[in-house]
Amino acid sequence: MIRVGITGGIGSGKSTVCRMFAERGVAVYDSDAAAKRLMRDDATLRERIAARFGAAAYRDGELDRTYLAGQVFGHPDALADLNAIVHPAVIADFEAWTRRQQGDYVVLESAILFEAGLERHVDRTVAVLAPLDLRIERTCRRDGCTADAVRRRIESQLDDDTLCARADYTIVNILESDLAPAVGELDRRFRYEARMPRA
Ligand code: ATP
Repeated sequence: MIRVGITGGIGSGKSTVCRMFAERGVAVYDSDAAAKRLMRDDATLRERIAARFGAAAYRDGELDRTYLAGQVFGHPDALADLNAIVHPAVIADFEAWTRRQQGDYVVLESAILFEAGLERHVDRTVAVLAPLDLRIERTCRRDGCTADAVRRRIESQLDDDTLCARADYTIVNILESDLAPAVGELDRRFRYEARMPRA
């Protein structure tokens, strides 16, 4: 089974693309949702987070995101520690999930595929790209936030040139009508490659 990692900056449309793969019957692993779930439910992860960031990281059994954000924001060492706790747990969970799936290929969605080293756990990578102004406009419309807030988040992510250079495939998401054919083409490719006899 082929594992495909899909990434892209904020507002690029990676969730939209992943939904289209799901509509074609492909199992999609949402790594952001998985990280949130594991931080809440996984006993080992909870212990490690509390040991590093203090018992205040959890309030009434729930992760206190505001507290944790305050601990890591502007503190690269603390952020690296948090990532070193959470990322391996997500990778292990993704690998266990993959073993339970059937089909030609599965999709992993991650905004930080390359930053988190997740690309080493997939066989193909796809970057969803879109012009900056479109991404800002879409994100503001979706989240009701300011353009400046979106720009700040974009600055902390890999730029499209880097994504383009590192990904095996790209999907340029400008016109919504172009998206389904682009997803269809990759879907056919991955299914073909999964079934192709190995040389
Ligand atoms: P994030 O990193 O913030 O999760 P994302 O890359 O997953 O963002 P989406 O949530 O898929 O991006 O898309 C952002 C918004 O833009 C959504 O509201 C989506 O419906 C809309 N959108 C995506 N692609 C297009 C398009 N081609 N035309 C118009 N709207 C679009």
